[in-house]
Amino acid sequence: MKKVIMLLVDSLMPDILDDALRHKTVPALQFLIDRGRYWPNCVTVFPTMTASVDSSLLTGEYPDAHKVPGLIWYDPERKEIVNYINGFWCAKQLGFHNCIRNALYNLNEKHLSKQVTTIFEELAARGKTSAAINAMIHRSVNKHPVKLPFPVDLATGFRLRGDVSGPEVLTLGKLVESGSEHISEGNIPRRYSKFRRNLGVNDSYAVHAAKALVRSGDQPDFMLVYLPDNDHTVHIRNPAHGEGSLIKVDRQIQDLLNEFGTWDDAIDQCVFIIISDHGQTRIGSGKEYNIDLDLLLQSFRVLQLGEPVRDQELAVANNERMAYIYPLKPDIEQELIRHLVAESRLDIIAWKDGKGVRVKEGGSAREMYFEPGGRVSDVYGRNWNISGEWKVLDLTEGEERVEYGDYPDVLSRLYGALYSQNIPVIVTTTRPRYELKSKFYPTHLNGGSHGSLHKYDSLVPLIVAGTDHPVNEPPRLVDMKHFVVELFEDSRI
Ligand SMILES: [Zn+2]
Repeated sequence: MKKVIMLLVDSLMPDILDDALRHKTVPALQFLIDRGRYWPNCVTVFPTMTASVDSSLLTGEYPDAHKVPGLIWYDPERKEIVNYINGFWCAKQLGFHNCIRNALYNLNEKHLSKQVTTIFEELAARGKTSAAINAMIHRSVNKHPVKLPFPVDLATGFRLRGDVSGPEVLTLGKLVESGSEHISEGNIPRRYSKFRRNLGVNDSYAVHAAKALVRSGDQPDFMLVYLPDNDHTVHIRNPAHGEGSLIKVDRQIQDLLNEFGTWDDAIDQCVFIIISDHGQTRIGSGKEYNIDLDLLLQSFRVLQLGEPVRDQELAVANNERMAYIYPLKPDIEQELIRHLVAESRLDIIAWKDGKGVRVKEGGSAREMYFEPGGRVSDVYGRNWNISGEWKVLDLTEGEERVEYGDYPDVLSRLYGALYSQNIPVIVTTTRPRYELKSKFYPTHLNGGSHGSLHKYDSLVPLIVAGTDHPVNEPPRLVDMKHFVVELFEDSRI
């Protein structure tokens, strides 16, 4: 029985991978593709932000089932904006204590629905062992202690000590290193877990941890390894300069493959799955490419970060190229929608209506509606009832089927985001080249950004090597949990 290693490369994009393959600059990825299978069109979920996507990858569900709406969202019970740490100033404004608590404890233990199971939980139930190396979602049956560095411990008044759940082996950089004696300073050089290297949440740390587990002779049956560095570089340098960053990722994968002796030995012993959470879109360089939400919504009383809820009219959760906008007063929803639709740099404005979703377009009078069920099926086998102008979501009518255009799998994805919470909410996205700006949130003029439904943010490569077990086609990220669990039931691997 082979082991399975899934490498989750943040912001890996098919166009950049194809360029690099043509230029012969990524030998490890080339090897895995030559010896396996490659799809450039795997569709991720929406919002295209790591927290919501990783929840879907690990549970095999859209956000309407797993209940993690995005990286940033409004929690109506606690009446606060939840931020799993995106941007230093934003986190500072909300309180580092809150952000760390949400990212370390609440995401896995509270926000991720108990009605769904993770890959780790499914494998544990089948007697299989797993490791989660720096992955945001790690919920499972074992408990692991959090070790906060002293300055963080002090700054949070020692209130954030505790355990988090995970598979047999869990690392979150230096914060959690638990379940294996092989993940130790002898195996992971200290320089990789310094403060300025995100305390070990980086590619070098993760690959060293993975190599240590391979070398130990006690490699868990399933290992998820999260590689975040590519995301940081593409945000700063923009996707047009993504190849240099991908070459660095490839070197890390070479390093991991080398641990097995030969690369052939690696795929004889393991199934390798390479996937990403989302892509990125190049943002224009002029100020007009930042759509200032504070300015756009200035006629409303907006809940400011860190402020208690009193008589504010709405709350905004800015997820870069998408935002959740929550009307806190029932009578302002329509006025808010009119306001957003008047802005032509916004792409989609959508909200819950009846059992479905009503969608408008920024700067246009076009409108459409869809709901689950009905006579039209999509390429993923889901049925829909669609009315109004299909062009709003770039849908076309194929032979007894709805075909997706610029917004892959858009009906399930948009529905999944809006129904991730049972409160009124409006979703908006920006047109390509634009992103949203809010006070204290990071922006990326002339860099890269993501979050939207557009194919630039939504299509990721999928590489599977070391097995010919069938993959559902066209591939979706939400199908990968089922695929991994099935692999362990396929006696041929
Ligand atoms: Zn990012």
